[in-house]
Amino acid sequence: MANEPTVIIRPVANWSARPPGCRILGVVIHCTTGGPDWDAALNATLSWFNNATAMASAHIVIARNGDIYESVPDERNAWHAGIVDKPPPAWLPDGNPNNWTLGVELVGDTTTPYTDEQYASLVWWIRGKMQRHGFPSTNICAHSDLYRQRGDPGGLFSWDKLRDGLND
Ligand SMILES: [Zn+2]
Repeated sequence: MANEPTVIIRPVANWSARPPGCRILGVVIHCTTGGPDWDAALNATLSWFNNATAMASAHIVIARNGDIYESVPDERNAWHAGIVDKPPPAWLPDGNPNNWTLGVELVGDTTTPYTDEQYASLVWWIRGKMQRHGFPSTNICAHSDLYRQRGDPGGLFSWDKLRDGLND
């Protein structure tokens, strides 16, 4: 297995308590947009997560070089998938998905391939969360699976790469 990615703790202001009785059942994958200056996109995303009017956050942001910025601890809700207007995946209870999931933002957009370093970090991180919280590798979805207005992480995101990594 490759080296462990760098994890940078960068707490943000936008989060809420995970309601009693809610546990982590899976992961929702997003992307930030904001290229082609991806360093600026990373910083803008972390700033956005600190902006109360944004009402947005995720548990982690994965930079193009694979560095993981941990912005909200698992025990808290991040605000990444609060609206559902599609039939949710079978593993996800009705109601607010934020109560039951971890949110990942990949620095990137729907028209740019994600980097190998991002896939490696995503696999490493999800694998750790599967062990910690006891959910299967099938409990992972795209933001676009939940909300019609969102297309992320997009058609260039390779679910095969993610699955192959998790099944390795
Ligand atoms: Zn999203």
